[in-house]
Amino acid sequence: MKRRALYPGTFDPITNGHIDVLEQGLNIFDEILIVVAQNSQKSPIFTAGERVEMIREATVSYPNVSVSCIDNRLLIQYAKEQHATAILRGLRQVADFEYEFQIALMNRHLTPEITTVFLMPHEKYTYLTSSIIREVARLGGEVADFVPYSVLRHLAKKLSTNHTQPH
Ligand code: ADP
Repeated sequence: MKRRALYPGTFDPITNGHIDVLEQGLNIFDEILIVVAQNSQKSPIFTAGERVEMIREATVSYPNVSVSCIDNRLLIQYAKEQHATAILRGLRQVADFEYEFQIALMNRHLTPEITTVFLMPHEKYTYLTSSIIREVARLGGEVADFVPYSVLRHLAKKLSTNHTQPH
């Protein structure tokens, strides 16, 4: 049986840190399904559709990676339906730990047969977050070293349309 993992997140937008974790995950799993959470709590700047599109473009060269989107659904339930054996998450620093631990333990309680796996990104991505990318890009800084090309295009488009909106 193929080993399938779900890699959930907000991905607002996907960064090279996310991609690094994805690549590490592909060393372990046969298939990875990236799941974009709509996540109204975080008020993402990109729509779920835009986030899915950026991820699709950024992962087009990985045949074993697919992308989907969930809205207001229990992730672990979705993971079960998708026949996943694992949930993949990235751990950057200690700061990530407590939150990740809470979710992983709750998911384990709800569905013990699905295991949460934490992988570290390369150290150059340790301090990389989607929010810092959004902020630097908004202020006109260069983020090309940190995000896939598809994201650069979408960021430029998003920022130019925001600028043309009346204040
Ligand atoms: P969430 O809102 O679920 O935290 P994110 O899109 O911020 O969604 O992150 C999705 C997953 O990717 C999380 O496990 C997060 O810790 C991880 N992640 C975020 N940024 C990086 C990075 N720079 N390197 C490695 N993992 C990361």
